[in-house]
Order: sequence, then structure tokens, then C-alpha cells
Amino acid sequence: MTGRRVEIVEVGPRDGLQNDPTLMPTDVKLEFVDRLIAAGVRRMEAASFVNPKLVPAMADSADVMAKVPRDKGLTYIGLALNDKGARRAIEAGCDEVNFVMVASAGFGLANQKATPDDTADQLDRIAPIVHDAGKPLSATISVAFGDPFDGEVPVETVAELARRAAAAGAVEIALGDTIGVADPWDVRRRADAVRAAAPGARLRLHFHNTRNTALANVHAAVEAGVDVIDASCGGIGGCPFAPKATGNVATEDVVYMLERAGIDTGLDLGELIATAKWLEKVLGHEVASMLSKAGGFPGKAA
Ligand code: ZN
Repeated sequence: MTGRRVEIVEVGPRDGLQNDPTLMPTDVKLEFVDRLIAAGVRRMEAASFVNPKLVPAMADSADVMAKVPRDKGLTYIGLALNDKGARRAIEAGCDEVNFVMVASAGFGLANQKATPDDTADQLDRIAPIVHDAGKPLSATISVAFGDPFDGEVPVETVAELARRAAAAGAVEIALGDTIGVADPWDVRRRADAVRAAAPGARLRLHFHNTRNTALANVHAAVEAGVDVIDASCGGIGGCPFAPKATGNVATEDVVYMLERAGIDTGLDLGELIATAKWLEKVLGHEVASMLSKAGGFPGKAA
């Protein structure tokens, strides 16, 4: 195991905050970003260019992007649901644009008024805009493991969307378990299917811990050779359009598991735990992560 490195994309400032009951002011968001950088985070989602009336927590995304540190090696991903959002993300200075496809119509129509085919067509229109701006394009296939309204999502649908994303020029494809229904064996199956359908694209996995399987799913993904994992500090998060969706897998829980096994993440567990505890203070509620309660082992992180 040693010698392997897994990149963790921190999604707390976007996926984490967008469904928290507490609306975090811009200056506090910026402190959150600073703390994450101090913990070693180099790539993160900090902004979403969606309808501010529907997602008020992301209304200040352009302002956040204008004020975040721009040190070399830091990459900020801007999320978009359509071409207007992609243009706003580019204007705001995001380093990457992430377009959200949907694997099933039930969630797709509720979240962004689009079917799976619609989102693939939209991606074809967005790709030239992002490429002309000289930015990398990535695609997240949301509800890739199950849909809150339609139920099971065929693996073939996910593979076909991945094929279309790669054909449009997405350099990275993320499979999102938006409502936390994946199991570790299905993670393997879908990772293999997507790699076969889009062999040129990097694969990223995005898990929510709604049913307590997220860490097992991360393990399955890493065992399947996936090198990029989404996580949110504290395990904060959810989705306003996915009923009962709970937080992302917690960054510190993933870091503990991987580092304990000798897999390098480049992140500092003690700083992450301190940030999770800080989040509890500024959000006014407990966070879901286990490591923020138990601390690391051996010693070091209190
Ligand atoms: Zn999510």
C-alpha cells in the first residue's frame, strides 16, 4: 500500500454548506477555506453557479471566488447546471468547471429540470465554452447509484453518460452517490463500467453517508484503483433537492483510514479535526464525523 497517493477533493464549502440549516456569511466561508488550505487541501469546491433563489447558501459564490487565496497549486472547482452557470463560473475565476449530469429523470427534473439525455446534450453545448476559456471540464453524474424518486439506476445508463461526458471532452468523471445508497460491491461494478466506457477520463467518487456505508464505499473505490475522492470536513452537507440526503463522507474520517493504511493524502488530520470542531461552533450544531469526536491514533491529534 505504501507509496500510493489518493487525492481528496474538499467539497465542504459547496456541497457541505449548501444544505446546512445555518447560512454561513462570506467572511466565515473564507476563513473555512483558509483553514482547509492550512490542513493541506489543494483542490476544492467552493462555489456553485446555480439559481440563488433555490440555493441561497451559494448566492455569494462570485464574491467568495474573488476573495479566496490564489497561491500556486490551489485549484477551485465551480459547479454549474447549465451554460449560464458555466459562464458565471469562468467569469468568477474558477480554475475548473464541473457540470452536473443526472443518471435518472426523477432527480434530474427536480434538481435541474433535465433528463439524463438533456444533461448530456447540455454538456455538449457547455464543453466548447469551457474549453475556449482554457479551463478543464469535469462532469459529475449525480444519483449514479440510485434515485430518490425513481429507485434503481441501471449501470448501463451511468456508463453511457460517462461515454458521452468523455466524448464531450470531460477530463474527469465523478460518480455521485447523492442520496447515500451505494454499497461497496456496486462501487466496484460501476467504477469498472465507467472506466470501460470512458477509458481516457480520470474517475472520481462522491459519497454521502446517509446509510452509514460511505467509508466502506471509499475503501471499495480505492481498492478499485480510484485515485480521487470527494469529502467534506466534518461530514457536513446534503442536497436541497434530494429528500433526507445527509452529509458527505467526512474528510478527516477518510484521511484517518487511508493514512493509517499507509496511503498518502497530503492532508493533516489534526488540522482537519480542529476545523471540524470550529465548524461546530460557527454552524451551531454538532458535525457527523467520527474522528472529530474520537481523535486520531496513535497520539498526535487530540
Ligand atoms: Zn453531494
